[in-house]
Amino acid sequence: MYKDVLLHIGGEWIAAQSGRTLDVINPATEDVIGTAAHAALADLDAAIAAAEQGFTIWRATSAYARAALMRKAATLIRERADAIARIMTMEEGKPLIEAKGETMLAADVIDWFAEEARRTYGRVIPARAEGVYQLVVKEPVGIVAAFTPWNFPINQAVRKVSAALAAGCAVILKGPEETPGSCAELVRAFADAGLPAGALNLVFGVPAEISEYLIPHRAIRKISFTGSTAVGKHLAALAGAHMKRATMELGGHAPAIVFADADLDAAALILAANKFRNAGQVCVAPTRFLVQDSVYDRFMERFLGAVAQIKVGSGLAEGTTMGPVANERRIPAIEGFIADAQKHGAKIAAGGKRIGNKGYFFEPTVLTDIPITARVMNEEPFGPLALVNRFATFDDAIAEANRLDYGLAAYAYSRSAKTVTALGHRIESGMISINHHGLALPETPFGGMKDSGYGWEGGAEAIDAYLATKFVTQAS
Ligand code: NAD
Repeated sequence: MYKDVLLHIGGEWIAAQSGRTLDVINPATEDVIGTAAHAALADLDAAIAAAEQGFTIWRATSAYARAALMRKAATLIRERADAIARIMTMEEGKPLIEAKGETMLAADVIDWFAEEARRTYGRVIPARAEGVYQLVVKEPVGIVAAFTPWNFPINQAVRKVSAALAAGCAVILKGPEETPGSCAELVRAFADAGLPAGALNLVFGVPAEISEYLIPHRAIRKISFTGSTAVGKHLAALAGAHMKRATMELGGHAPAIVFADADLDAAALILAANKFRNAGQVCVAPTRFLVQDSVYDRFMERFLGAVAQIKVGSGLAEGTTMGPVANERRIPAIEGFIADAQKHGAKIAAGGKRIGNKGYFFEPTVLTDIPITARVMNEEPFGPLALVNRFATFDDAIAEANRLDYGLAAYAYSRSAKTVTALGHRIESGMISINHHGLALPETPFGGMKDSGYGWEGGAEAIDAYLATKFVTQAS
């Protein structure tokens, strides 16, 4: 059922030259379900040579033809969505319905960027002299090295790949070693749609080895990374040292502020669903819940009620609403956060423990009264862990929301137009969703500020990351 995953280089699906592979583990069973080919430097050289050839052809392909091919890839993904979702659930653990949703959304992302391909307009600047034309031309930036993580094996990759291909760039994608199969299906859809050989290459291996080779390489013109802030800072520094353009989608620690005048039913249900989606392994997951004193008890009753409804189990089983965490190391990481928070005086209102000892299942956990000195109030928990504290005034909530260097997503619930408007101004965050959950659509900008990174991966802004501006002035 789960096929071994190969590298995709120069239009071919191939094993690593060394023959090395990495095991892929099902986090629900801990079984080895397959392997992924493990690239070494010789494979990367082959990928670079292929991308150089692919880029020559793809950049010369009209935007109209690029868009048509991309739409074909999107259609293939929709046709194959059930099979792809199963692969994703087996390797990542998320419930099948979430895996299918991610796969279908990927097709929408491809369609969005296919449309954007045809709108990479330049402009003509009026000249001072007669007969002179001053042209601003947009060109593909070149070969892109993209690095994507395991939590959304397709979604994290499709945003980079689609924007780059739409712009006419070629891509070397270092996919997620732990969840390679569904990411490979994304690449397969482009290959089967007829993408020229080399325009999109897929490798897996040792992440640090690959980034340290590709980022400085003179063939690579653009870096795009999604992952932790610590790794992002390292890669951004490397990109800077080699004067490479970079997009950095890094970690978050989203505040979720519930004001006294909020619709508490909606806030509790929507925030619980989004906190525990993908077992909390989501960079935009609501994390620091701030609930105004006067409604704290009423909110908690509803929130804990919603958490109690979560059904943890295998993502393939009917009715599961939360799967295991994706890898073994998340378990001690989450346990460590909880133990440290308790040591600082935090209370456990729900969960707190691993479930069983087979499969990486963890209880949906709610901590309360957590001092800001606790590690989890400062580091991204990246697991099924909600942190709930009280606040008194609007200014207190804003101060806590902006306290951290993270600035990716923020959430708030209030029926007051004045509060809602003030939130939009005051919160230091790349994305703010108020009174509903509305982030990460293909047509809306997705990205952070402060330590959460720079650059946008959705909306009209996103394709610019893959375009170079060139000024041409010509006299007849
Ligand atoms: P990690 O920091 O080892 O890896 C995070 C991601 O970065 C992985 O995809 C990994 O392959 C990649 N990576 C690591 N070192 C790299 C390097 N030198 N060059 C290129 N890529 C590199 O952590 P992890 O245990 O895999 O994940 C845990 C942490 O990572 C989480 O706590 C979370 O903060 C962060 N993370 C964030 C996202 C996101 O969507 N922003 C996704 C996955 C993980």
